[in-house]
Amino acid sequence: MALKKKFAPRRKFCRFCADKDTPLNYKNPEVLRDFVTERGKIIARRITGVCARHQRELTREIKRARQMALMIYTPSHDSVVKKKSMI
Ligand SMILES: [Zn+2]
Repeated sequence: MALKKKFAPRRKFCRFCADKDTPLNYKNPEVLRDFVTERGKIIARRITGVCARHQRELTREIKRARQMALMIYTPSHDSVVKKKSMI
């Protein structure tokens, strides 16, 4: 297999550094939702390009939002059961 770049190199930047108005707060789960997978996992910094400082804050706020039931910890058991029964 030839070594070929799958993606065009694109400069990653921290969204929160670039736009100081982007709210990084558990009260804004819409923003936090961009940084978790559909299964509720927090996406690694190396993928999203968030800087170390903001990733730390992001993690904290996502965890807070989960506790406030604004975000999910994991998909509901219900949908997992449904998916399995469909197979
Ligand atoms: Zn940043």
